[in-house]
Amino acid sequence: MDFYALLGVARTASAADVERAYRRLARRYHPGVNPGDRVAEQMYRRVQEAYFVLSDSERRRKYDRGLLPVDEQEPVAFEGFDFSTPAEGPFAATFSELFADVFVQAAREATTPTRGQDVTVTMHVPFEDAVRGAERPVSVTRQERCSACRGRGYTARAVASCPSCSGQGTLRWTRGHMVFRKRCPTCGGDGRTLREACRRCSATGVVPRAEVVTVTVPPGIESGSRIAVPGRGHAGALGGPYGDLYVTIEVGDHRIFRREGADLHLTLPVSIAEAAFGADVTIPGLDGPVTIRVPAGTASGTTLRVPGAGGVRHGTTARGDLVATVQLVLPRSLDERSRELLREFARINREDVRRHLFETH
Ligand SMILES: [Zn+2]
Ligand SMILES: [Zn+2]
Repeated sequence: MDFYALLGVARTASAADVERAYRRLARRYHPGVNPGDRVAEQMYRRVQEAYFVLSDSERRRKYDRGLLPVDEQEPVAFEGFDFSTPAEGPFAATFSELFADVFVQAAREATTPTRGQDVTVTMHVPFEDAVRGAERPVSVTRQERCSACRGRGYTARAVASCPSCSGQGTLRWTRGHMVFRKRCPTCGGDGRTLREACRRCSATGVVPRAEVVTVTVPPGIESGSRIAVPGRGHAGALGGPYGDLYVTIEVGDHRIFRREGADLHLTLPVSIAEAAFGADVTIPGLDGPVTIRVPAGTASGTTLRVPGAGGVRHGTTARGDLVATVQLVLPRSLDERSRELLREFARINREDVRRHLFETH
């Protein structure tokens, strides 16, 4: 998230510019102005966050250098009012203090482990593998839990007493009559360890990793099907559980077959003599040669079915059929003798093969 872009100011914007931009946006997205609008609510929170960082010169300097210290995610809690002592100094709470409740909520979200995002990839599966089923590798780039910090984003170093809170674990301070409290970010609240942002994962708790996942493709799977591989998605934030991997299947074409469910379709070239006299013709099936009986007098366009010679019906062990659509093929070139025979054939067979086209019903 680019805080400058979010506030709509240049990177060189003055503190006054940042302030003005913030006020304008805070008014626009204020939950009181947009009741029930979750997008506005989120924008409001982001605007707060951006302002929290950019309104403080030290935080802004760190942000500009690409450092967002872990401690800025720590919640500030508003404890209440304290009128027992006179207010000290100018009555000016910092922005983050005034919006303490907003920060507590945002920070709780930022420090609660969340489930990782799902990863979606598309896998090309050759036609035969989709029909028969197969184990197929697919390469996936995913966020994995950082091993250096075990996904926490920071590493801890033991000390006698935390210098920030004198080992108390909490920072507590007042502004005017208002009392604020915050878990000590330096030690994470336990007073005896120092938290240092993990360098390996830039304090995110996750590192990208490319790996090859083997996916079991069930027989009969169709293009567009999704296969879920549980737990192989992105790592969750702050040690949260992994998301899932979803593999979308894209089945390749076959040289001669087309699939309709479990049935395999093909166009079957048949010679004139085979169609006239009948023949057993053999084609290369998916599991070896398949013989198809062409009956005598078969017309072009006739479909011939070989039961059980298709693929596996998805989710069962039943097989589909092989469905052949006959296509009559003339010899590529006719020699004089063949022409003579065909002329003879035409003389003998004077039947008009298109007569039925003229019949009215
Ligand atoms: Zn790490
Ligand atoms: Zn501390």
